[in-house]
Amino acid sequence: MLQAPFFVYFIEIGETKKVHMKNYLTLLLILLIGGFIHETNAQETKKWAIALHGGAGYYPKDSPSERTQAYMESLEEALAVGTEILENGGSALDAVEATIQYLENNELYNAGRGAVFTAEGKNELDAAFMHGNTLNAGAITGVTTVKNPISLARKVMEESNHVFFATDGAETFADQTDVERVDPLYFRVEEKYERWKRRNAGQGYNHDDTSSENSWKMGTVGCVAVDSDGNIVAGTSTGGMTNKQFGRVGDVPIIGSGTYANDLVAVSATGWGERIMLNVSAHALAMHMKFTESTLEESMSYLVDDLLNPKEAGFIAVDKYGNISMRTNTGSMFRAAADSEGMKEIGIWED
Ligand code: ASP
Repeated sequence: MLQAPFFVYFIEIGETKKVHMKNYLTLLLILLIGGFIHETNAQETKKWAIALHGGAGYYPKDSPSERTQAYMESLEEALAVGTEILENGGSALDAVEATIQYLENNELYNAGRGAVFTAEGKNELDAAFMHGNTLNAGAITGVTTVKNPISLARKVMEESNHVFFATDGAETFADQTDVERVDPLYFRVEEKYERWKRRNAGQGYNHDDTSSENSWKMGTVGCVAVDSDGNIVAGTSTGGMTNKQFGRVGDVPIIGSGTYANDLVAVSATGWGERIMLNVSAHALAMHMKFTESTLEESMSYLVDDLLNPKEAGFIAVDKYGNISMRTNTGSMFRAAADSEGMKEIGIWED
């Protein structure tokens, strides 16, 4: 690219008059300065970077301190799972899957074991997995017996000719690919079930209710990562919304809504699924970055501050250079991030 102006200049002056030594020296100087500016502007690419979320919503600052501590510790442990893989040269695909598996196995979160209850008191799980470099993805919805839905979503991506399997079909595919299935009661964490019966049974979902007892509904999980080979990956897993109606599918398994990755950026969403879906949010961020040539942070601001309404959603994203952005407009989002340069962050509230 730097040689093009030199070439044009050379032809122009060569056709009209003799090229003197002075002209060469001027050109050389221009090239050197151009090269220097080019170098200074070049994005530094980190070897690896990872971010995760454990759901966005309203988590009061005066929540019981043991509970807050349990969240902080589990976020740290989840981050360590993914970080260890990336530090040892492992792939972003493995880091994202293992990090989400950890969160799915932790009943604090609304994914896997700790999934919230539907209006009928069941647990119906959704997940999606996407590899940005190949634009390949896998997703599942409405499963009731798959222990780690994120692993099934990855299998759909890697071992099927399709992208999205629902309910019984997804579970048949789990059997074909040796993904562990469990009794549906595995997902009924008694404490959560009793609380749901007391406070929510038959109420229907009310997004505007941010009273502290309903703040427990936060907890969808997601992870985005880029590795030293340049693989860029996004994954998300959820039990959906408390009291969701029969057959309701949220944003999480819909590629481009709650989960998306291309060769530029990987995104995972959490929050009010219907709103995230209607704004095709994860894809919107990626396209904003691509077509406006904005930075990740600028495109994230567009998504969180302009496209979505306040109190609707939170997102984590990593770009191919290893830049990370984690933003919510709901007041809080359980989140953590780290990169190869030693950055490490764990947080809950917006500030
Ligand atoms: N977005 C998820 C859903 O609508 C819920 C959440 O992130 O809390 O299914």
